Amino acid sequence: MVTRQEVVVNYEGCGNTVGAEVVVLPLKEDVLRSIYEAFAEWSTRFSFVCTKNCAACCTQNVTMTAVEGEVIHRLIRENGREGWLAEKLQAKWATVRPRMTTNDFAGACLQGADVHPEECGNMSPCPFLENGCCQIYEVRPFSCRCFASEQRCLSETSALLPEHYLSASTAVMQIIEHLGQGEYWGNMLDVLSALCDLPENRNYYATVLPTSFADQSRIQVIKAKPLPGFLLLDEEMGKIAPLLDAIFTRKVGEKTVESILNGR
Ligand code: SF4
Ligand code: SF4
Repeated sequence: MVTRQEVVVNYEGCGNTVGAEVVVLPLKEDVLRSIYEAFAEWSTRFSFVCTKNCAACCTQNVTMTAVEGEVIHRLIRENGREGWLAEKLQAKWATVRPRMTTNDFAGACLQGADVHPEECGNMSPCPFLENGCCQIYEVRPFSCRCFASEQRCLSETSALLPEHYLSASTAVMQIIEHLGQGEYWGNMLDVLSALCDLPENRNYYATVLPTSFADQSRIQVIKAKPLPGFLLLDEEMGKIAPLLDAIFTRKVGEKTVESILNGR
């Protein structure tokens, strides 16, 4: 069951300016699902060849927010696969950790700082890939959902994507980070590990994981930040504005996603 959560929303993107205020955010995971759906609908205009069983892009280089991690944990609990997950999380992955969130990076760029995108992390296969198939596909985070290609990726060919699709994906990542601001943000394995300590997960994981496991994982994650503005070129706006509009006008209960993100 999805519970109500209190979050601080300080959204100043897209020309909206709203001061920080504490609001009750209903159904936070429903907002996330709405964003996923709007992005998936917008993406149908591209001729992507990606399928569930195509997984050359599935590496350990996946970042996500806590709310995305909570969705994954719920699926694991519902399917009684906590032992499977505990085993995956305890393996010694050579995780490479980003030092800046997407919104940190965007904020620095918008302030004119001399920053460069961090190098890709660990490109080894994702631990959730078994027999070439993602074991958490239905609840995979946005970082996985937005990875796509108009040609099948092979060892000699990389993903083929329109430039504005990459910009649009980054903008949506920023919105999702904004939704989870103040909460964990980081490598998928670290965020899932840190969330083992949540009350609904603790009963199981406290019995199979070392006492310090979640504490150590918490050190590895950073906090999601509010949206400082988008990094979109003027010439891209015409193509990406319909996506942002579709996200912000989507209804969750009585409210639009935009008003929820603005704390109204
Ligand atoms: S991005 Fe490439 S490897 Fe990943 S699913 Fe699409 S075609 Fe397959
Ligand atoms: S979570 Fe699933 S979709 Fe994402 S990288 Fe891992 S195997 Fe691929």
